[in-house]
Amino acid sequence: MAILVYIENTDGGLKKSAFEAAAYAKAIADQKGDTLVALSIGDVADAELQKLGKYGVTKVLNASQANLKQFVNKAYAAIIAAAAKQEQASVVVLSNSFSGKGLAPRVAAKLDAGLADGAISLPSWNGNDMEVKKTAFSNKAFATEIISSPVKVISLSPNAYELKESPASAEIVPFTADVNANDLSVVLKEIVRATDKISLPEAEIVVSAGRGLKGPENWAMVEELADVLGAATACSKPVSDAGWRPHSEHVGQTGIVVSPNLYIAIGISGAIQHLAGVSSSKTIVVINKDPEAPFFKVADYGIVGDAFEVVPKLTEAIRNL
Ligand code: FAD
Repeated sequence: MAILVYIENTDGGLKKSAFEAAAYAKAIADQKGDTLVALSIGDVADAELQKLGKYGVTKVLNASQANLKQFVNKAYAAIIAAAAKQEQASVVVLSNSFSGKGLAPRVAAKLDAGLADGAISLPSWNGNDMEVKKTAFSNKAFATEIISSPVKVISLSPNAYELKESPASAEIVPFTADVNANDLSVVLKEIVRATDKISLPEAEIVVSAGRGLKGPENWAMVEELADVLGAATACSKPVSDAGWRPHSEHVGQTGIVVSPNLYIAIGISGAIQHLAGVSSSKTIVVINKDPEAPFFKVADYGIVGDAFEVVPKLTEAIRNL
């Protein structure tokens, strides 16, 4: 039996979440005494795929057909399922990313497998049953899912699993799967992200701001702080509703859920709906001029002060470190 991990790429490059998935799958393979096989789809150079060796991957199936350069959920899911069947995979691991959230249920349906999405730690095993811990009810509770089907699909939340190295040498093996033309024929609207921007769901540091900043013209200081920290930027819902920032930055119950190592909240009150999307951050820093702001109750560090004074000073201090 094997453990198959699907490795996502962004414009041909592998991001931290791909290595996290590989390291996580390696740990599951070690738990079960199974071999680990990675699958890459699209146009990724061999040298990039070989980086997976650092995390214990010894074999990478590389599906690099020209018609697969563009991500298409149905086609990619069919290829992952085909690779899982070929390798007789007992567990298929994916990242719980934007694309992973769409792929995992399709892959599970094709393999007649149970799905545990958004795992936050390694599974434990009770015979053939796999127990997976995840968050539930907008991060207010933990849930344990038990998957008993012979084949299992599991997706890993970003930043939930520490990258563990177990150096090996990764052999790249071409993989050609029949792709149904219907699976490729979707109308795509491609939204091109600025390449120098850090992806919010996977960011290790997030600098987020709310209505306390008064207007979009004041976001330069948020971006400057994010720049010196190598962070992604985010915002509260009213800010994106007002069009001050794009909706892709809105975090919370109705937006993106993030779990970075550091979340800096500037001029955000800390409403329950906002906290639902950020409370699993490892360290929370709150900057707010109102000492009674609810966000301080969940903060690890708090600065009571005017953001317009505090943020530039903080940026300067970090720049001078
Ligand atoms: P405000 O509540 O207006 O808070 C602004 C804060 O800035 C205040 O605490 C104030 O003290 C501080 N401030 C003002 N000036 C300064 C200054 N100069 N320096 C420092 N601090 C200053 N919200 C989300 O964010 N995400 C969601 O997903 C979400 N989903 C929702 C779903 C539902 C069904 C509903 C009903 C609401 C949802 N909301 C969501 C809205 C949420 O309830 C709050 O209204 C919202 O989070 C408040 O945004 P805010 O903190 O930016 O603004």
